[in-house]
Amino acid sequence: MAKKATGKALPRKTAKKPPVRKALTKASKGRAADVKPADKRAKTDAKAATAAVPPWKPAEIEEAFRRFQAANPEPKTELTYVNPFTLLVAVVLSAQATDVGVNKATPALFALADTPAKMAALGEDRIRELIKTIGLFRTKAKNVAALSHILIAEHGGEVPRSREALEALPGVGRKTANVVLNCAFGEHTIAVDTHIFRIGNRTGLATGKDPFEVEEKLERVIPAAYKRHAHHWLILHGRYTCIARKPLCEKCIIGDLCKWPGKTVAA
Ligand code: SF4
Repeated sequence: MAKKATGKALPRKTAKKPPVRKALTKASKGRAADVKPADKRAKTDAKAATAAVPPWKPAEIEEAFRRFQAANPEPKTELTYVNPFTLLVAVVLSAQATDVGVNKATPALFALADTPAKMAALGEDRIRELIKTIGLFRTKAKNVAALSHILIAEHGGEVPRSREALEALPGVGRKTANVVLNCAFGEHTIAVDTHIFRIGNRTGLATGKDPFEVEEKLERVIPAAYKRHAHHWLILHGRYTCIARKPLCEKCIIGDLCKWPGKTVAA
């Protein structure tokens, strides 16, 4: 028998999802909730690069890195390596290539050669064959063979813990030296790659015309307690959240602190 209706009738339609819930649903699917046109974002990036965004207050910087640390206490490089030498080689191979692409080629290479002596013995031709899936593989094979010979001849087969000595190796620039000093030796260096350069300028955290200027500013403003991992937090943030073409501002943990006028959602 049908139940007798009592009291108020139930609403015929389910209530509409509130806007915040909608935005979160979109965010969980990895889409920006309200993406501004690309030309507008590019203009604000350009403005930011000329330091047109307001600077961060020290307390805001402290708070941003406190959040990065809380979200990921021990960030690591995404390159695969087993010792300082293989880290050096992996970073040299990663120039203008993705870590994923490098990691596909290096296991076979490092299984045969995980020391400068073994790499030198392997020889340029064989190295080239093993890394041929990575962009610029010819030049990189030449550099890896040459730097292995130099490490044997001048550094006792070890990777030197010195910026000058590292930068003197073929295929090694300031950024690569900074990565090796940070990841292999625990030094508080910040390697400014394309992601960190963009984040520094876009957010206003450290604006600069070139990577060196951004590196110097980051060195000055990042509190000492966070310097060891700052490099990884910023790279990972740029790689997965503050993406160049379509930043995911709606899921950004520093969205309320970021000064970029082109944010895809209001913080
Ligand atoms: S809010 Fe976050 S993701 Fe968006 S521009 Fe700023 S730092 Fe990048």
